[in-house]
Amino acid sequence: MSDQSNPFHIAQQQFDTAAELLNLSDNLRAVLRVPQRELTVNFPVKMDDGRTEMFTGYRVQHNLGRGPVKGGIRYHPAVDIDEVRALAMWMTWKCALVNIPYGGAKGGVVVDPKQLSLAELERLTRRFATEISILLGPEKDIPAPDVNTNAQVMAWIMDTISMHRGYTVPAVITGKPLNVGGSLGRVEATGRGVSLMVRELARRLSRPLEGMRVVVQGFGNVGSTAAILLERMGCTVIGISDATGGYYRGTGLDIAGMRTFTDRHSFRLLEGYSAPGVEKISGQELLELECDVLIPAALENQITERNASRIQAALIVEGANGPTTPGADAILAERGITVVPDILANAGGVIVSYFEWVQGLQEFFWTEEDVNEKLERIIVGAFDQVWEMAQRRSITLRLAAYLLAVQRVADANNTRGVYP
Ligand code: NAD
Repeated sequence: MSDQSNPFHIAQQQFDTAAELLNLSDNLRAVLRVPQRELTVNFPVKMDDGRTEMFTGYRVQHNLGRGPVKGGIRYHPAVDIDEVRALAMWMTWKCALVNIPYGGAKGGVVVDPKQLSLAELERLTRRFATEISILLGPEKDIPAPDVNTNAQVMAWIMDTISMHRGYTVPAVITGKPLNVGGSLGRVEATGRGVSLMVRELARRLSRPLEGMRVVVQGFGNVGSTAAILLERMGCTVIGISDATGGYYRGTGLDIAGMRTFTDRHSFRLLEGYSAPGVEKISGQELLELECDVLIPAALENQITERNASRIQAALIVEGANGPTTPGADAILAERGITVVPDILANAGGVIVSYFEWVQGLQEFFWTEEDVNEKLERIIVGAFDQVWEMAQRRSITLRLAAYLLAVQRVADANNTRGVYP
């Protein structure tokens, strides 16, 4: 992987830029530019046909300065240690930016879960949870869902840790189903946050939300929820893509119908979806559609130096983590395209995960209205801070977000000092 597409090198480059502007000491830079802890596990899983297959997984804790660490678990064939390191570092900045008392972590298993039966998926999950259990705990490290993991996977992890301990430990993981201590509003939280960021951006730029043409890459948890909520706010979603390609209709897609379609299909894919007037296009073409808002909500490195000059959106709101490379960022800034960065735009998930953890610890549950209202207050408050700093210093929203977040993490680490 080249330096330009290695997510960890990108994450370090973004940190270095912020550290330089913040004038952080060399010592602190050295601490924050690398993960504090990394665990690699190689483990066997019994397959349905009687074979035993080996899998590799990771759990990386980037920085524990501000509290227990938090971050999702991804199942994907392209998972590698540098991707997990980058995602863990981005979690540290994200938690700091929205000012919740966590450090950052991330986990992943190198696997294509579409190739596994449900029983194999459960055995893989329980064994991986056991392998990384030396790091996990409500007071230490609290995972959550990410690409290709969902509430059921979280329930298996919670059950596995609980079986080891001999009592139920709901707060060891978030994104759980409601019937085992999940929080109302968690499934929709990341997409809801993304839709709120589009709304706030439109407000600041005095652009009407009504009729705004939106394109969404990725139709999973984040992308599909964002599309549904933006449609409800009056936007017209003209393009959607997933791993099977893109779907376009200039007058607006039937998002509810597409969601019903994916809910009935394995891995919620749009493969085979058709409707009158819907054109099938490639994933690349989708990113380059003329629209008002582009929401990348799939994977890293989607907007790069190769396609940034052809992006026709006026605004980009990053539902995914790391969808834009630094080279592309510079091109977009030059072209006057406003980008709401991942560590702000998709923070709704970790905010409501934090609420789920708090509710689990005190065993007192809130209404959905409570959850949504608190989420909105926190994420809109963070947006306002980022926006104001960007205006004051004439910098991009990404740089402003990094300056705020990295400063908070630096302050916590400085206050604690170096042990011993
Ligand atoms: P998901 O597994 O629910 O959905 C991923 C979607 O991306 C699927 O529709 C898949 O088909 C699609 N996809 C995969 N490869 C693609 C490609 N090449 N082109 C277009 N689409 C492609 O995952 P998710 O939870 O929605 O996560 C999506 C992104 O959002 C990830 O970057 C993740 O880290 C980030 N994120 C998720 C959460 C959360 O709460 N789930 C929180 C913050 C950030």
